Amino acid sequence: MITVLSGGVGASRFLQGLASTVDPGEVVVVSNTGDDVEMFGLHISPDTDIVMYALAGAVNPETGWGLAGDTFAVVEQLQRFGYPRWFNLGDRDLAMALHRTRLLREGMPLHEVTAGLAKDWGLTCQIIPMSNDPVRTVIVSPEGPMSFQEYMVKLRTEVDVRGVEFSGAEQAAPAPGVVESLSEAEVVVFAPSNPLVSIWPILAVPGIHRAIGESRAHRIAISPIIAGKTVKGPAAKMLASLGHEVSSVGVARIYQGLIDTMVIDTEDAALRDEIEGLGIRCVVTNTWMTDDNRKRELAATVLEAARRP
Ligand code: GDP
Repeated sequence: MITVLSGGVGASRFLQGLASTVDPGEVVVVSNTGDDVEMFGLHISPDTDIVMYALAGAVNPETGWGLAGDTFAVVEQLQRFGYPRWFNLGDRDLAMALHRTRLLREGMPLHEVTAGLAKDWGLTCQIIPMSNDPVRTVIVSPEGPMSFQEYMVKLRTEVDVRGVEFSGAEQAAPAPGVVESLSEAEVVVFAPSNPLVSIWPILAVPGIHRAIGESRAHRIAISPIIAGKTVKGPAAKMLASLGHEVSSVGVARIYQGLIDTMVIDTEDAALRDEIEGLGIRCVVTNTWMTDDNRKRELAATVLEAARRP
């Protein structure tokens, strides 16, 4: 079993490669729900949906989120009734949110709702939300605290990040299957996701951090930072404003003690010794997943590195 800690866009691209390299039935995705948000009265799980759409081959390839060919008639129309327009949710994407919300209101726990949705999309891998309890990533800024979606979508990351908090994490429990998937896995992968707002909310759920620490799996992270930059999104900016080094070394320090191996890009080959100095084995390869071949090659390299004695 291969368990992947997953955010949205970066993780989903890696998962596409993984699912076409191994039997997807062997893959368990532990999905970040810290970005979940209530909009228009609906429960939206952005990271989980990105992963499902990507694995189903339905994701919008231009944005990396949402459904290919989706339209936006409903959010346009909602403006007439005074709803904000900043949250861009496609019409077909909304269908997913409607269905999820109905099932949750009927009392079905999120992990069962998510498993059902994955099945509806024809997926054979398991996708488990990190927790059934509400954990919300809060961005602390000079303008006050805000949800991750407000920071990312409404304000387009143009505010200074002073801190990141995970509201509700202390009272949350891992969703059924999460701890088991970490204890029983042969390999635990930290996807190339934003360490601060995609992976850390998962680790903030009590019990998950410990399960990874105690797991006998080989634990391997792929750096989302290449040559001091993110491929997409605010990870570099956030790392800098929170005092981390903006490099694969900075990411390795965040994960130190939880991972055995770190995979970094060939552009960062010079950082290998510094990462190994942290007690983390370092593998250098092409990590920029520019096409399907690159995605598969990265997945194969990660598995090969994890299985190397
Ligand atoms: P989000 O929740 O949708 O922002 O998605 P993630 O946290 O999963 O992904 C964002 C991170 O993925 C960013 O820090 C990107 O640098 C990283 N990323 C995206 N594509 C790639 C890629 O091809 N290679 C690597 N190494 N990182 C990537």
